[in-house]
Amino acid sequence: MIVMKFGGTSVQDAAAIRSVIHIVQNKLSKRPALVVSALAGATNHLLESARLAVAGQKHNAEAILKKLHERHSGLSAELIKPIAEREKVETFLKTTFDKLQSLVDGVSLLGELTDRSLDMFAAQGELLSSTIIASAFREAGVDALWLDIREVMITDDQFTAAAPDTNLLKNHSARLIKPALEKGKLIVTQGFIGNTKDGITTTLGRGGSDYTAALLGAALDANDIEIWTDVDGVLTSDPKMVHEAKRVKIMTFQEASELAYFGAKVLHPATITPAVERNIPVHVFNTKNPVSSGTLITAKHDRTLEGVNNCVIKSIAYKKNITILNIASTRMLLAHGFLYSIFEVFKRLKISVDVISTTEVSVSLTIDFSDKLDEAVHELKRFAQVTVEQERAIVCLVGEQMRYTPGIAARTFNAIRDVNINMISQGASEINLTFVIAQSDVDTVVKRLHDEFFSGPLPSAIFE
Ligand code: ADP
Ligand code: ASP
Ligand code: MG
Repeated sequence: MIVMKFGGTSVQDAAAIRSVIHIVQNKLSKRPALVVSALAGATNHLLESARLAVAGQKHNAEAILKKLHERHSGLSAELIKPIAEREKVETFLKTTFDKLQSLVDGVSLLGELTDRSLDMFAAQGELLSSTIIASAFREAGVDALWLDIREVMITDDQFTAAAPDTNLLKNHSARLIKPALEKGKLIVTQGFIGNTKDGITTTLGRGGSDYTAALLGAALDANDIEIWTDVDGVLTSDPKMVHEAKRVKIMTFQEASELAYFGAKVLHPATITPAVERNIPVHVFNTKNPVSSGTLITAKHDRTLEGVNNCVIKSIAYKKNITILNIASTRMLLAHGFLYSIFEVFKRLKISVDVISTTEVSVSLTIDFSDKLDEAVHELKRFAQVTVEQERAIVCLVGEQMRYTPGIAARTFNAIRDVNINMISQGASEINLTFVIAQSDVDTVVKRLHDEFFSGPLPSAIFE
């Protein structure tokens, strides 16, 4: 079997969903399970309505929900013609939007918006889209079965970033999904969402549908995990920043996970782990251009390409809204436990640290923009001097070949020699070179480095 995940833009309107149906119809013999996202923009709208409700702007919150209801109804009217089937979908839409209305009432009455409530808002997007899509498949003559993923995706209760229980997922999937697939049914389910063991709705974090697909693929021992999105695959950089970015035909799990972690939105950072554990290849394909062969992400690094010029760097990722903390202790010289004290603060506040560089007397590290920044600084100041630099960006060059190729750092920093670099780090894996700059420099830096590494002739085995 295979898992096929379709992102928000792949299901944004009737035309997109018709393309999805067409793509899937050609793959039915592979027994696909479909994981779908909310319609493009729907998750943002749901979260926006929650925020407006808690800010006392109930009417604006309701206006957003009304528009969203109309958008889903319009879609169902376009895609589902038989009256009885459409009425079923309309009833589901009404029940869902009634629930959202109650949530808006509750949040605005209490003036409080918890992460648990946010997840309840956000989760409705996938429930809505998947219901319409399953029905559209049946309309097209495919025996589609809508599945509430929350029956199998049991998570902890860390709302907005819940961690799944992979053992339970495996057991539940064997019971609830496998038999249906074996009977030739097409499973249509939601990405992004789950349930605590007590049945409270959670989400896996923004962009989490990719992660759902990989988790499900691992649980069902899929032959392939396909991520269908709006670009031809993983590209040499974000095409929204670098228009001439090229398709990377093949890359390793490790390359893909470094890229995702350092900002390449095309994959959720957690996507690769479940695939690695079972060694399941991940394909990234374009719903708008299904004839492209996309990107294949596998365990295999092609050693025959070692020493081949111009395929050292596979891709350049960047991540904005980064904060640097410079932490110095007058007592650090020869003192033990200083690093421990620092990281204990981040652990306690559940802030994850990305790039780190240390000297004997100071530590610099980066965190994503966080509303807990002030608290972290306050805690750190108990035992250290702390300075904060905001509006920074991480740039990360990734490629397996880096570990065999000298001179990459020299080429990189020479190409941007007029740019101030705040921090530099090369991971132990030696497959990435990561540095931190002012956010205002990120465009220039990424474009210049793309030019440096990708403007010459490239090996056609790797790049298109
Ligand atoms: P989906 O809704 O299908 O999950 P996303 O918007 O989350 O799609 O991810 C796809 C987007 O990722 C692309 O439109 C592109 O702008 C962005 N992106 C960033 N870096 C890369 C990269 N290296 N390769 C391809 N796409 C990238
Ligand atoms: N709909 C969710 C989001 O926008 C999950 C996803 O699309 O991957 O974050
Ligand atoms: Mg995504």
